[in-house]
Amino acid sequence: MIPDPVIPDDFATIVVDDTGMSGPAVPPIVQTSLFTFDSVDAFEAAFRAPERNPIYTRGLNPTVRNFETKLARLERADDARSFASGMGAISATLLGLLETGDKVVCVRNVYPDTYRLMTGLMSRMGIEAVFVEGTDLDAVRVAAAGAKILYLESPTSITFDVLDLPALSAIAREAGAISVIDNSWASPAFQRPIEHGVDLVIHSASKYLSGHSDTVAGIVCGRADLIAEINRVAYGSLGAKLSPFDAWLLVRGMRTLPMRMRQHHRSGLTIAARLADHPAVSDVRHPGLETGTGDTTLSGHSGLFAIRMRGGAPAARRFCDALKVVRLGVSWGGHESLAFPAQLGLIQPGMTNPFEAFGVPDDLVRLHIGLEDVEDLWRDIDAALARCDPQEEQEDTNMGVTT
Ligand SMILES: *Cc1c(COP(=O)(O)O)cnc(C)c1O
Repeated sequence: MIPDPVIPDDFATIVVDDTGMSGPAVPPIVQTSLFTFDSVDAFEAAFRAPERNPIYTRGLNPTVRNFETKLARLERADDARSFASGMGAISATLLGLLETGDKVVCVRNVYPDTYRLMTGLMSRMGIEAVFVEGTDLDAVRVAAAGAKILYLESPTSITFDVLDLPALSAIAREAGAISVIDNSWASPAFQRPIEHGVDLVIHSASKYLSGHSDTVAGIVCGRADLIAEINRVAYGSLGAKLSPFDAWLLVRGMRTLPMRMRQHHRSGLTIAARLADHPAVSDVRHPGLETGTGDTTLSGHSGLFAIRMRGGAPAARRFCDALKVVRLGVSWGGHESLAFPAQLGLIQPGMTNPFEAFGVPDDLVRLHIGLEDVEDLWRDIDAALARCDPQEEQEDTNMGVTT
């Protein structure tokens, strides 16, 4: 039996509560670049408190603020700031808090573009990045000495290792470092890192927060002083602001976040468990399979995990080609099921390829289990696996050999 996920009771109310925006059941999109004033006095009053008074949409916009307020409440944070993408949130957070000569300690198997930011642009600016195995607490403790930021992601990208957030945030605190986590996988429904001592929580809102694969957005939530610092140093100057229309789509998508996450949890675990018993699959990297949620800070599991194919990279390729209901694509967190073969990540050009750096195997396929009927999904996956089992692989190989 699949254990039920636990989502805090107030979530269902927070996601439909558009605080302070009375009138229409659905608050309007305040699609404007600027706000006008009737007098210099009123204009001046706004200038004296720009955090409360909309002046220009790159600074403050009511529709964008509605999304930020909701997410701060879900993450149990003082405040939040949203961005045009998850990478906008990650880069503004890191560049807003770090300077030349600083060190950031980052867990391995972090999101690939986060790795590229740290080893590319940040390294060029004289900010050092050290990568450590996040499950090795002693290694993290040693590396954290003298670090300004400890950057976490749990579960990690591609390998789905679950990290010990209370222990890691304590290590950061002892070292005098700010702890930051990318919480996109779990969403606040299944993990609230601030309750476990983490200082800042980042989301690619393009994933589960949106839930409908129709927008790219990001957000950082956390302590008021840290959000204020990111705001002051990086937000306005880097300018990766969220558009009012995208904020409106996010507010709309989040109204069903608790319901969607329950379904991703059930369907994801159902399919992962069946895959673990399938002869064509050599490994299933799903954080809920061995441990359940008992000894982790996860109160449920999303729909994203990875499998490895017994038949190697060619089998992974044939499996993906044979899928019909599950489509091929990057990203995840929407209504639709997706497959991504890691061999494509390995061929991406770049200064340093993160898949290569972290040793991601080429027989790995990442799956996102969406909201379609779970038995339709299983029939599709099972049929595709039948097309690439080791037996068939053998025959194909023999046929290919001409002597
Ligand atoms: C997609 C993703 C990001 C980047 O978010 P964008 O909105 O695409 O910029 C960051 N972290 C994780 C874990 C992601 O999956």
